Amino acid sequence: MSQPPASLSPWALNVSPSPTLAVDAKAKALKAAGEDVCGLAAGEPDFDTPVHIKAAAARALDEGKTKYAPTPGIPPLREALAQKYTDTYGIPAEPAQVVVSPGGKFSCYLTVLALCGAGDEVIIPAPFWVSYPEMVKLAGATPKQVLATDKTGFKLTPEMLEAAITPRSKLLILNSPSNPTGAVYTAAELEAITAVAVKHNLYIMSDEIYEHLLYDGVRHVSPASFSSEARERTIIVSGFAKTFSMTGWRLGTIVAPVAIAKAVAGMQSQMTSNATTFAQWGALAAYAEWDQTKAALDEMLVAFDRRRKLVHAGLNAIDGIECLLAQGAFYLFPNISGFGIDDMVFCERLLEEQKVAAVPGSAFGAPGFLRISYATADVTLQKGLDRLATFCAGL
Ligand SMILES: *Cc1c(COP(=O)(O)O)cnc(C)c1O
Repeated sequence: MSQPPASLSPWALNVSPSPTLAVDAKAKALKAAGEDVCGLAAGEPDFDTPVHIKAAAARALDEGKTKYAPTPGIPPLREALAQKYTDTYGIPAEPAQVVVSPGGKFSCYLTVLALCGAGDEVIIPAPFWVSYPEMVKLAGATPKQVLATDKTGFKLTPEMLEAAITPRSKLLILNSPSNPTGAVYTAAELEAITAVAVKHNLYIMSDEIYEHLLYDGVRHVSPASFSSEARERTIIVSGFAKTFSMTGWRLGTIVAPVAIAKAVAGMQSQMTSNATTFAQWGALAAYAEWDQTKAALDEMLVAFDRRRKLVHAGLNAIDGIECLLAQGAFYLFPNISGFGIDDMVFCERLLEEQKVAAVPGSAFGAPGFLRISYATADVTLQKGLDRLATFCAGL
């Protein structure tokens, strides 16, 4: 018997499900059906969570840390995070400014909800992380995309920002290092953009979830570090998922001016309460036992850097593909516009004909590109590159 059509809300009808998760799901389904798929679509590290973090969570379970915790997070974790921002990035922060939530994604969503509503415009540089425009729409506000192609290194310029600002502009979303391009703003570039945002009274949501995944000796900089004016307008979103290989733990953070942190925590208290208690005790070990965390991180970075160079060289060796060498995260974003076919069709055919999963640039507001994730084994990457070359040669 067929079901009657559901009578869905405008919110449900208006939201597009995550295309990156969809490509990944399709690749996994093909794999489950016995196909030899090269998955270059995943948005998560292929490493396991460092052992000392897992041990701390297991200990917390044994000790009965299985009850509700304060909504904004367990106090020692909020203290450790405040300390981290103060010491590492020169951003003086107190525990009251920190909220721990169930995932970086939810941290972003709460931030948008805390600041934006009907009539507000949110400036989103493209290529963007797929969830930003959808979150803005769910808040009833209007996403305003500004495309920055490989010509500017996939980075917004102060001029582009100026041109996008209207009297309704409320929030600017920045994401450095970037998903999907891996681009990293220099301190000077970021400072110039921050100055424009401050001048026009915009809030900045700075998504810094890839803050530790940097190469070529590049250092992480946050817009909040430039001045007290910038700090008053910046909400730093981060989390444990990407940099500590903890995607399944669902732990995100924000650091914001106290009034905004309180608003975020207030909404979280009604929407989901605290992030999983024993997961937070595990996450605390990431900072409390930093030497071990650093060792695990360094090991991942060596592998990521090697793969980054492998994929970058492999992509540029293919006739018709041009790819910048990004300095952060674990993605490269090659330009495939030279082939003259739609990037969605390109990705569909690549998966069907060569069993290689990659995400079309259109998903990130940038048609004519692909997102390649190199968070997978070297052999898989090499095989994927070989198959991509075969595919491109046949176009
Ligand atoms: C993965 C990701 C997040 C959120 O990750 P969680 O798994 O929800 O912690 C946020 N922003 C960007 C840009 C990401 O790639």
